[in-house]
Amino acid sequence: QAKNGGRNRFSFVERQMDEALRLRKVVEDDLRKAIENDELVLHYQPQVEIDNYTVVAVEALVRWPHPVHGMIAPEKFITVAEERGLIIALGEWVLRRACTDAMRWPGVRIAINVSAIQFRHRDFVSDVMRIITDCGIDPTRVELELTESVVVKDADAAEEAMIELRAHGVRLALDDFGTGYSSLIYLRRFAFDKIKIDRSFLEAAETTGESAILIHSIVHLGRALGLTVTAEGVETHEQLEFLRALGCHELQGYLFSKPVTAEEIDVILAQPGTLEERATLVKKVAR
Ligand code: C2E
Ligand code: MG
Ligand code: MG
Ligand code: MG
Repeated sequence: QAKNGGRNRFSFVERQMDEALRLRKVVEDDLRKAIENDELVLHYQPQVEIDNYTVVAVEALVRWPHPVHGMIAPEKFITVAEERGLIIALGEWVLRRACTDAMRWPGVRIAINVSAIQFRHRDFVSDVMRIITDCGIDPTRVELELTESVVVKDADAAEEAMIELRAHGVRLALDDFGTGYSSLIYLRRFAFDKIKIDRSFLEAAETTGESAILIHSIVHLGRALGLTVTAEGVETHEQLEFLRALGCHELQGYLFSKPVTAEEIDVILAQPGTLEERATLVKKVAR
């Protein structure tokens, strides 16, 4: 009985690995074509101000609706894109699509994830500025989300690119804060406008305990340095109230909305309302 269970578990793991390898092969074979043929799509997730639940930004999150394998999540293909030298093309596509869509949402910032390899590319700053000019978007509405890996390697070059982007008015957010390898000194050295507390801190979040202490410290650190503090992965009213009590500025998470299509963002922005109204609306449009 026990032996049998063990064997089943093993074959289950084997099947999972098989599946993962198959998907990886599909991604490797088809990703270049998907980028070239405009087959990727962007979903957008609102970031709301904690005081009045106004949508202040939407984050662009890339997805790949594969004709055979269904919707593929970014975590399944971003790494492959980096390994295969496709991340520059993919990143440019995302920037252009997101800035173009954002023209429909005046007054709302557009947050765009940037891979470390993409950021380190020699032409990154000029590519970003060219796309911003082409789209006619105000650069102060563009917020690039970088992870700590961007600044860990070749810090001098990263610093230079960041200063240049900020000089053009582009905003910089430090994504997944608290999960990387960088030391706190980076926060002072690099000119970020905002930090995003990683979702993993909130997952375990009760209003007491170690995660709560860490969230508390991050919020206070960010505020003390004059940065906007955004919490990602907010799913419950308890988390909301906890973050409010700490003085967190902005929230993003399923409590307000999952990532949705551009058309669904149009609908959300057309309905200013209370959290309850928004939550009800979100229930209707959630997929
Ligand atoms: P991220 O930038 O930290 O984005 C937040 C992720 O958390 C998204 O996953 C989002 O759907 C998810 N999320 C947001 N709120 C909640 C919540 O309340 N509960 C839960 N369980 N999850 C929540 P997604 O869309 O699968 O993206 C995963 C990661 O892929 C992103 O993490 C980002 O690092 C990367 N990524 C996405 N789009 C792009 C892109 O265009 N370029 C690059 N380079 N990376 C991207
Ligand atoms: Mg992000
Ligand atoms: Mg994040
Ligand atoms: Mg992440």
